[in-house]
Amino acid sequence: MPECLFCGIVAGEVPATKVLEGDRTVAFRDVNPQAPTHVLVIPRDHYPDAAALAAVGGLLDEVVTQAHQVAVKEGIDDSGYRMVFNTGREGGQTVGHVHLHLLGGRPMTWPPG
Ligand code: AMP
Repeated sequence: MPECLFCGIVAGEVPATKVLEGDRTVAFRDVNPQAPTHVLVIPRDHYPDAAALAAVGGLLDEVVTQAHQVAVKEGIDDSGYRMVFNTGREGGQTVGHVHLHLLGGRPMTWPPG
């Protein structure tokens, strides 16, 4: 079992409900959904946060593009949705494998908690 939970999901060793799979990215449902659609999009390779992801050619773009593809698949692209990278302790990041939260299916409020 890999030390990283999301590496375990990529490897198929930790169960997850996958929504879309790309060559370098995977989208799966959050186990504790905060909205009718709550999907996490991750790179298959391990990067700790969004800044590390952005340093890799084109991979951040692929994560964002796959999140939009999930929104289309879920039928929330017209109504709108939110993409979030929680980063670090005060940013609310609890899993150290970068992940984009795609949230939608209800009106979002601002400011976030
Ligand atoms: P964050 O707090 O931004 O690091 O987000 C981590 C997210 O991972 C939380 O929304 C958790 O509900 C979610 N999560 C934790 N374990 C799993 C799992 N095994 N499968 C799917 N989502 C998970």
